[in-house]
Order: sequence, then C-alpha cells, then structure tokens
Amino acid sequence: MLNTATSLILRAGHQLGLDDAIINDFLEPNREHIFEIGLTGGKSFKAYRVQHNDNHGPYKGGIRFHPDVNLEEVRALATLMSLKTAAVGLPLGGGKGGISVDPRQLSPAELEELSRAYARHLSPHIGPHKDVPAPDVNTNPAIIDWMVDEFEQITGDTTKASFTGKSLGAGGSLGRDAATGRGGVITLAEYLRLSGQADRQLTVAVQGFGNVGSFFSTVAATDHPQWKLVAASDTSTGLTNPNGLDATALSELKASHGRFTDYHAAGVTQISPDDMIAQDVDVLVLAALGDTVTESNVSRVKAKIIVELANGPINEAASDQLAASDTVILPDIIANAGGVIVSYLEWVQNLADEHWTEQKVNSELERYLIPAIQAMYRTAKDEKASLKIAAFMNALAKLTTSAK
Ligand code: NAD
Repeated sequence: MLNTATSLILRAGHQLGLDDAIINDFLEPNREHIFEIGLTGGKSFKAYRVQHNDNHGPYKGGIRFHPDVNLEEVRALATLMSLKTAAVGLPLGGGKGGISVDPRQLSPAELEELSRAYARHLSPHIGPHKDVPAPDVNTNPAIIDWMVDEFEQITGDTTKASFTGKSLGAGGSLGRDAATGRGGVITLAEYLRLSGQADRQLTVAVQGFGNVGSFFSTVAATDHPQWKLVAASDTSTGLTNPNGLDATALSELKASHGRFTDYHAAGVTQISPDDMIAQDVDVLVLAALGDTVTESNVSRVKAKIIVELANGPINEAASDQLAASDTVILPDIIANAGGVIVSYLEWVQNLADEHWTEQKVNSELERYLIPAIQAMYRTAKDEKASLKIAAFMNALAKLTTSAK
C-alpha cells in the first residue's frame, strides 16, 4: 500500500510540476513512535503512531487493532490522512496508529489494559492541539473512551478533544457512526450529478459490511431508493439477491454481532466472499481493507464505477488497468473523508463545549465534502487526469505551498 500511495503522490506531484525534492520532503513523516506494549499477563504487542504532516493543524488519524498492522502500512495510512484532510479543507494534519494484535484473542480486561497502555505511552506526544487520534478497524467508542480517560488522568485535560470517535455520553458527536458511509453516498451522488447521471437506476455490490459498508447501504437505501443493493459480503460469506437485499436487516444482524452465514431470506443466495468484486453490477463499493483489488484479480471486476470506502483498496497496477477500461474510481481520500470531517466537527464541538444536532452535523459534512468532490472533478477534466490523481493533485498543491 505504501508503494501505491508513494507512486500516486509522485505522479500527482509531477503533473503539478513539483520538484522531486519537494515531493520527497512531503513524503517524509515528521515523527514515528514505535514501541512494545507488555500486558501484566505476559503477552506483548508491537505498537505504532506515525505523525506524518501537521502543516495545516494537529495530526489526525485512526488507531487500528489488527494482526497485519506494520510500520509500512501505518506510514501509508498516515500519508493518506495528510492528503485527505487537505483535500477536504480541514485545519488538521495527518497521522495514523495501530497495534499488531488480533483483539478477538484478548479478554475484555486485556483489551482495556492494552488500550490504556497505548494512550499512556503516547500521552506526551498527543492532545487536542498536537495529535487527535480516532477509531479505525477493530477499534470503537468504548476503546477510545478508555484512551481518553487514561489521557485525562495523566495530563489533567478536561476538553474531551484529545480523541474523536468517543461514545455519545463521553463527548462523541451525533452522526459520527454513520459519517464515513454517508460521505460515500454523498460522493457517489455528487459524481453522478456532475456527470449527468443523477437519475440513473443503479445496481450496487458492497464488499465489507462493517461500520462503513453498513451505513453506506442504509443511508443509500433511504436517500437514493433508485440504487439497488444486490450483493454484500462480510468475511463469512457473500449474499446476493437480484431483487434487492434488505440493508436495514443486514445492518441489524451485524450490529448484534451476527455473521452473514446466519442470514436467510427469500431470494437470497450465498456466494464466496471472494466473488463479490466480480459481481455484474453498476457500482462496486470496497469497504473492507487495503489491497483488495490487485493485478491478480482486477480482470474479474465488471462494475464501471468503484467507490473506495476502505483506504487503499485498489493497488496502482489494478488502478491503471481499470482506467484503461474506462472504469471510474471514486478515490478513498474523498469517498471516505466523511469520517474525518465529522471527527473534526466532534473536535470543534468539544473545544467549544457544544452539542450539535445530527441535522447540523450532516449539513456541515456536506459543506466540506461537496466542494472537494467538485474541485476533484474539475481538476480531472482540466488536467485530463483520473479522479484519484486529481484529488491527490488538489491536496498536494495545498500541502506543498502552505508553510507551517
Ligand atoms: P469494520 O471492521 O467495522 O468493517 C470491516 C468489514 O470488512 C467487516 O465486516 C469484515 O467482516 C469485512 N471484511 C474484511 N475482509 C473481508 C473480505 N475479504 N471480504 C469481505 N468482507 C471483509 O471496519 P470499518 O470501520 O467499517 O472500516 C472499513 C474500511 O474503511 C477500513 O479500510 C478503514 O480504514 C476504512 N475507513 C473507515 C473509517 C471509519 O470511520 N470507520 C473512515 C475512513 C476509512
């Protein structure tokens, strides 16, 4: 993923006419924290926080708990965060963190001890005006609440603005849970409007029905009933129904920790989750993990529009092949930026000691996201570039001309 991100940044930078020295300077992270967390029971885990760029404001980015977490991936994700916050015009920088752990192998007490130890180790380097972490894969409001509590005990901070993605009772924002999926819906709808396809009837497949994929599907079902969800997958199985899947029923199943293999309804067929990317649909939504579509499986993709809700789900070689077959990719740094936009809004509410309605949060989300989608579309047309390169160009232009 780091290679793909670096290479795309170089391409976007060259198209902007930037010197290699300036691009390489941008690529270099400001600071990397690499440490080991030992639990009292004897287990030990490698942990990371990469603080990539704070030219526009405090570092911002999630914390991932996953066995595959490694320095290279955290670096790539931190770099993408710097581009994402710039692309949507937030006064924030980019960072990312993670622990190489399978949280399902931990007891609740071990998970809390690990989360608190992570916040404790980083407490001198993070905070409302330095670095504001958030949840990512396998981390959730409960984990963030432990981290906030630990940070407050050590530093005396009372703003609640040290982390975002908190539970509602602990300073979280309404609308944050749905924000990334909602942002994906807004991005797809605005792209369709700009390209003269606003009223198109679409079939949709969603790969990865976690937080992001499920909210994309339920928000789309409400706001765009002309889009039909005909396929969806989690790690257990893929589900298809040419007459449409019930997004709300599937979301409720996942919210109660069910697996798609447990789902049975009239007209629904189970398929291998690996076949989700090969569904004959108009729109493929990638909402699981990075490097899902690569040169080894890209020839199976039939959809002509792909929404990147995960970070880096399509590698560079696959992106090039898709571009050659006129497949449009709505890129991650715009399509999944709804999460960081509402994280920013949570931080603003915390610092001002305010609590906004969900309606206000959602309208602010659109106020940041829609101009960024339009700017990407315009740059792509003007520069004869893909939407992805255009989004990277817009972000990089802001980051390399702004002094601290
Ligand atoms: P999540 O853990 O809630 O969901 C991930 C889902 O993907 C799970 O349902 C899992 O079963 C599924 N999955 C994993 N591998 C799969 C496979 N091979 N086939 C089918 N399904 C598979 O995580 P999330 O918060 O929904 O995040 C998903 C992606 O979106 C990640 O890449 C994350 O970095 C990105 N993202 C999340 C946010 C956010 O606000 N949560 C913001 C921006 C980007």
